[in-house]
Amino acid sequence: MAPKGSIERDRRDLFRSLRRKIGDERVIAGMERVPREAFVPSESRYLAYKDIALSIGQEQTISQPYIVALMTSCLGLQGSERVLEVGTGSGYQAAVLSHLVPRGHVLTVERIPALAERARVELLRLGCDNVEVRVDRHVLGCPDRGPFDAIIVTAAAPALPYTLMDQMATGGRMVIPVGTRLQQELVRVLRTDEGPSVSLLGPCRFVPLIGPDAWPEE
Ligand code: SAH
Repeated sequence: MAPKGSIERDRRDLFRSLRRKIGDERVIAGMERVPREAFVPSESRYLAYKDIALSIGQEQTISQPYIVALMTSCLGLQGSERVLEVGTGSGYQAAVLSHLVPRGHVLTVERIPALAERARVELLRLGCDNVEVRVDRHVLGCPDRGPFDAIIVTAAAPALPYTLMDQMATGGRMVIPVGTRLQQELVRVLRTDEGPSVSLLGPCRFVPLIGPDAWPEE
């Protein structure tokens, strides 16, 4: 266990670095409201404010804070959007989204029931009452609840999934890692009247998106 002072120092350093690298004050302030230590296993709580991904069990990870800030910033949230997250994991990203759409709604979908349950409990405890956690492994995203103004996929897809593009509202944004199982590019999709417009944001590394329209289970 690291002394409390060093966690506080890490936290200060982390947010200073995120402000310098991302510069989206709305997103960084939203992240500051979420205690990341509540979403990591107790044995790695002392690492909660290092800018690294951490294991959350079931071979899954909570994303690196820099990546959370970058992806969230790309969604350009104003406060009342309907947001879909694919890959609830710990629930941390959903908690951040919750603060960014106080008049909106966050639907987050997870395929592993045990992770979804833990995330649900933590989100409830922290009062994120505009977040809904759903378990699904038969369909990608949540077509019956779309279209969404913003979609964030926090696991790596082999290609841009058409099923998720279909769940985007016109004017909607999606951010998703696309590539191999080991290395991906972060992709931003904007859905316009004329069709999708795609931009590349840089390399990243996520756990694989598994199931329909993604990687097969190994
Ligand atoms: N956003 C999370 C990190 C996600 S890790 C956080 O803030 O902690 C990626 C998650 O995606 C894992 O929990 C994994 O089980 C889940 N996942 C993988 N494929 C999925 C699918 N097709 N649908 C929903 N969740 C999926």
